Amino acid sequence: MDSLRIDNLEVFANHGIFQEEVSLGQKFLISVVMYFDASSAGREDDLNKSVDYAKVCSDITKWMKTNRCRLIETVAERLAQKLLLDHKIVREAEVTVRKPWAPIGLPLECVSITVKRRWHTVYLSIGSNMGDREKYLRDGIAFLKKDQCVRILKESSLIETKPYGKTDQDDFLNGAVKLETILTPHELLDLIHRAEEDANRVRKEHWGPRTLDLDILLYDDLEMDEEDLTIPHPDMLNRDFVLDPLRQIAPNLVRELTKH
Ligand code: ADP
Ligand code: MG
Repeated sequence: MDSLRIDNLEVFANHGIFQEEVSLGQKFLISVVMYFDASSAGREDDLNKSVDYAKVCSDITKWMKTNRCRLIETVAERLAQKLLLDHKIVREAEVTVRKPWAPIGLPLECVSITVKRRWHTVYLSIGSNMGDREKYLRDGIAFLKKDQCVRILKESSLIETKPYGKTDQDDFLNGAVKLETILTPHELLDLIHRAEEDANRVRKEHWGPRTLDLDILLYDDLEMDEEDLTIPHPDMLNRDFVLDPLRQIAPNLVRELTKH
């Protein structure tokens, strides 16, 4: 991917842990690399199709002066997030925050942190088998949409399915959603739990009836297996109520996944 780089923008600001850092302030140097497709901007000589680096520099300066963080890690994290949210075409942002005058009483040349953050592609499955199922599903998606760190890209139609695992309960309405997010997998899990709580979901029994169930099927090509989160979703390939809606929005992906 193409990249636009800004090196060592100098900003005087008051981030830090020590009292004198907060009261007196110090010089910070900010470098950023923004990754995006610059081909149409380049071919058409059109700034509207690129990222205006003068504006990026003035936005960073303003942000640095109107916020207070204790850690340069936090400064870098928040600036990277800001760049990804403010500039629709930017897919990935690398931010380095340097502190050339870190007041530690020892002669260091410079201390710095670099973070790299980006948009990730995610597929979710959604399901409901209680009450106004369609409304629960629509409201669930609307709940995710309210978070600026999530962009819904595609929604499948909703299909009627028989319950799985525990069969003595009402039929389900199921669907799949493609989204992009700058949240980590655990932050996304936390968001979908909040969406489920918003639908007054009560966790009584595993595979029992639910107003809203959101599961993370895929997160880029990430593989992880932790106590509270397994990606890809372990049972997804055995579940037609997951694969059928997913096939609607990502036919090639499902073909690849079910090849073997
Ligand atoms: P299920 O979806 O299997 O019917 P729940 O919705 O009650 O059951 O989820 C139980 C737990 O499964 C969640 O609290 C979450 O921590 C864990 N979990 C593990 N992997 C995933 C995943 N890929 N997506 C969603 N939840 C997951
Ligand atoms: Mg679930």
